[in-house]
Formats: sequence, structure tokens, C-alpha cells
Amino acid sequence: MGDEAVGGKAAAGMTRAVVSPMAYRSEHKPTWCPGCGDFGVLNAIYRTMADLQARPENFVIVSGIGCSSRLPEFVNAYGFHSVHGRLLPIATGIKLARPELEVLAVGGDGDGLAIGGNHFMHAARRNVDIAYVMMDNAVYGMTKGQPSPTSDMGMVTKASPYGVLEQPINPAALAIAFGATFVARGYSGKPRDLEALIVSAISHKGFAFVHVVSPCVTFLDAFDYWQANTVEVEAHDPEDRSEAFRLTSITDKTRLGVFYQREEETLDEKYKGLRDRALIAGRLKVEDFIREYQ
Ligand code: SF4
Ligand code: MG
Repeated sequence: MGDEAVGGKAAAGMTRAVVSPMAYRSEHKPTWCPGCGDFGVLNAIYRTMADLQARPENFVIVSGIGCSSRLPEFVNAYGFHSVHGRLLPIATGIKLARPELEVLAVGGDGDGLAIGGNHFMHAARRNVDIAYVMMDNAVYGMTKGQPSPTSDMGMVTKASPYGVLEQPINPAALAIAFGATFVARGYSGKPRDLEALIVSAISHKGFAFVHVVSPCVTFLDAFDYWQANTVEVEAHDPEDRSEAFRLTSITDKTRLGVFYQREEETLDEKYKGLRDRALIAGRLKVEDFIREYQ
């Protein structure tokens, strides 16, 4: 895309070209099954990038492994389709090395809550300034529909013919417990609402988590269920952590919207402060530091 086409700074007196969501499509067509919930998330991300008039060269999407983790390939931006469950350490490293970049992590429930669960905890508590969109279909879609950490107890699959024995994880409640400073839930069947949540998550300063109910039409087609069983979250004080926690956990109808948000110093800000202090001290030489510990 040319400079104006991506929302570049227009010369004085010129009107800046407006970038459409279509402009953020890459040349690769999504390889997901027709009707997969992840299409709704991808469209919400295209629209989010247009809302923010994001420049592709300043936008990085990092994913793990799984169906949903193919998403960076379909977006006209920098992308890193990384290692199973390791998207958050990589996204954290990118943000610390290049704080001026917008960093969005995307992946599935198996990727982020099973093998990657430990990284989720630490990225959240560090309050690194990235957004994390978890596409939750409650199965391992790419490997033929085995139960995942968010599968309901009793769910029958080929890998659990007598039903799942464990309780499902509630990712939004977990994110609040881990110390995330922005926590929301969306649904891929409502991509306009999801777009607003992702815009807010990216605009939030700090670790922003968006749990997205995103059904797998091939192994667990739950669109009808979610259509009938999701409602907008009640108006509440978003800084009230206990209330936010309660709202994520209501089970009569699953709540969608922003549960929790507060401002706190981010890891990248703290890291910059540390580096500045070290640089001032660094008028001394490395050898002087070493001498301090001898
Ligand atoms: Fe989507 Fe499920 Fe197909 Fe994977 S297997 S692309 S999650 S519908
Ligand atoms: Mg999954």
C-alpha cells in the first residue's frame, strides 16, 4: 500500500486518505472451515485496524499454534506465527524491544490455557502494554476436536467418549485474578460489538485481555446456543474488581462487554525507567558495576 493508503501523515494542506478495513486483508485467503467463528474475529480485527487507521509497519500480530493462530497470515501487518502457547513471551519481548509498535497477541483456548497457561499468568501480572485476543471454541479444532480447558464437564468427544471429567476454566475470571488491567468478553457472532471491545483493548495502556466465544462449526457448533445465551454486561464500576469477577462468572446468561479496567504503570514504562537509571549509572563502565558485586 502507498503511504496515503495506510493512513500516513499527509503533507500540509492535504487530506489524509482514509483506510478501509479491506485494505488490511493480506493476499492469503483464510484456510478455516466455512462458517468458523474465527472469521468474525478476523473481520473485527480488520475493522479495528481501520478504526485506528493503523499503519501495517507499526502493527504486529503474534500467535501461537492452532486454527485461530493462523490469523496473522491473513492480515496486512507484521506477523509472527510462533510456538504453541508461547505467543505472550514473544509479544512481550517485541513490546519491550520496540515500545512504539502496537502488539496484538491472538490464539485459542488450548494454546493459551493449557500449554500456555503459565505465560498468560505472568504476562497479565507484568502489565505489559499489549492486547491479547483469545478465540475460545472449547475444543482443539486443528487436531480433530479433543476437549480443551474450556470444555464443559460431561462433554462427549472422540477423545472423551464417556464425557469430560474436569471443570472448565473461566478465562475472563482468570485474567482478573492474574492482574490484567483490562478484561472483556466478546462473541464472534457479534463482530461489531467485538470490534468495539478490541479497539478499547488496544487503546488501553497495559495488559488487555479479550475472551472471545468463537465456535468451531466442525467439531462443536454452538452458534445457536451462544446466540440465545449471551447478554450485555450490566452497567457497573469497571474498577470494582470483585464486581467484575462476579459478572464474569454469572451462568444464567453469559455476559459480554468490558468487566474490568484500571490504569497502572506498565512493564514497558517501568523497563524504560530502569534502563534510563542504568544509563545514568552507565556513565560508569560495566566493569564498575561488576566491581560493585565483587
Ligand atoms: Fe474453525 Fe473448527 Fe474448522 Fe478449526 S476445525 S477452522 S476451529 S471450524
Ligand atoms: Mg480451541
